[in-house]
Amino acid sequence: MDAYGQGGPLERAKLGEATGDQGLLSKENIHNYMKKVVVTGGAGFIGSHLAEELTKQGYQVVILDDLSTGKLENISHLIKEKRVEFVQGSITDLPLLQKLFHGVQYVFHEAALARVPRSIDDPLTTNEVNIEGTLKVLLAARENAVRKVVYASSSSVYGDAPSLPQREDMPLNPLSPYALTKLAGECYCHIFQQIYGLPTVSLRYFNVYGLRQDPYSQYATVISAFLGRISRHLPPIIFGDGEQSRDFTFIRDVVQANILAAQSNAEGVYNIGSGKSTTINQLAQAILKLTQENLKPVHDKPRPGDPRHTQADVSRARTFGYVPRWTLEEGLRTMTKEFKG
Ligand code: NAD
Repeated sequence: MDAYGQGGPLERAKLGEATGDQGLLSKENIHNYMKKVVVTGGAGFIGSHLAEELTKQGYQVVILDDLSTGKLENISHLIKEKRVEFVQGSITDLPLLQKLFHGVQYVFHEAALARVPRSIDDPLTTNEVNIEGTLKVLLAARENAVRKVVYASSSSVYGDAPSLPQREDMPLNPLSPYALTKLAGECYCHIFQQIYGLPTVSLRYFNVYGLRQDPYSQYATVISAFLGRISRHLPPIIFGDGEQSRDFTFIRDVVQANILAAQSNAEGVYNIGSGKSTTINQLAQAILKLTQENLKPVHDKPRPGDPRHTQADVSRARTFGYVPRWTLEEGLRTMTKEFKG
C-alpha cells in the first residue's frame, strides 16, 4: 500500500484512467477518488437510505438502478447533490458495470429482485438478476480492484432452522427460489474472495422495515402492508395463523451495518437483525395500538416458501462494531409518524 492506500502500479494506472488524468493526481482528487462508492439498487428501499447516509458521510455516491421496483422519488432529494450521480441501468450489463466501477472504493450491492412470492411467480427472472447480476457485479469489482463488495444477503437462506436464534454456522435450507439466489450470491462472494482475493462481506438481513417500502405492491412486506391497510381503516391481513415470528430490523440499523462492514476488516457472512423475534399477531396488535385503530385482523391462507420463525444471533456482527439500536417499538413509532400511505 502506498501513502494513499493504493495497492500498486495497476491500481494507480486505473486511478489515472478513472479520472482522465495522465499523470499524478492532486491530493484533492485522490481524496475524492478514495471516497467514491457505488450503491446498486440505490433507488430501492434499503439502497436509497444507504445512499443517503453515505452522502451525509462525505462519500461520492453513484446510484445504479434499473427502476424495476425502485423509484426515482426515493432519491430525488439526493440527486440534486453534486456528489451523487444516478445511472439508470442494469446489473446484468457487464460493460456498464466495468465502466462504473472505475476508481470505486466500495460497492454496496443491494440490487435484486427481492421478495419470496415474486420469485415463486417468476423464478427465471429472479435467477437472472440475482445470480447472474451478482456474478457480473463481482467480475467488474475484481477487474477494477474495488476494495470491498458488501453484498445484501437474506435470512431466508436459513429456511426453517433447527433452533433459534439463527447462527451463521447453522445448516442452510433455502425454501424458495429467492432464498436460493441469495445463497448463490453469498457463495459467489466467498469464491471471489478465495480465488481472486476480492474482499467481500455478505450481510444476512432479517426483515428490514422503514419508510419507502411500497405498502400497496402485491409483494409488499408485512409492516408496510399493515400500515397501508390500517391507514385506510382496513383490517390487516395475516397469512396463516399469525403465530409465525420474525426478527424485524429497522432500516437505520441495516444502514449502520453496511457502512461498518465496509470500513472494518469484516469478511465473510454476518447476520444483521435485532436479535428479537415477534409473532405476526403481536406485530398487528402493536401497530393497531400505535395507530389507535380499533380493527380486527383477518386471516388468509399461509404463503408458500416462508419459514416459520426467524431470529438472528448477531454476536458475529458485533465483532465489527454492529449494535442493533432500534427496538421494534421505537422503529414502528418513528415509521408511523412519517408514514403517508
Ligand atoms: P427493493 O426492491 O426496494 O430494492 C431493490 C432495488 O434493486 C430496486 O430499486 C430495483 O429497482 C433494483 N433492481 C432490481 N433489479 C435490478 C437490476 N437488474 N439492475 C439494477 N437495479 C435493479 O428491495 P429492498 O428491500 O430495498 O432490498 C434490497 C436488498 O436487500 C435486496 O438485495 C434484497 O434481496 C435484500 N434483502 C432485503 C430484505 C428486506 O427485508 N427488505 C431482507 C433481506 C434481504
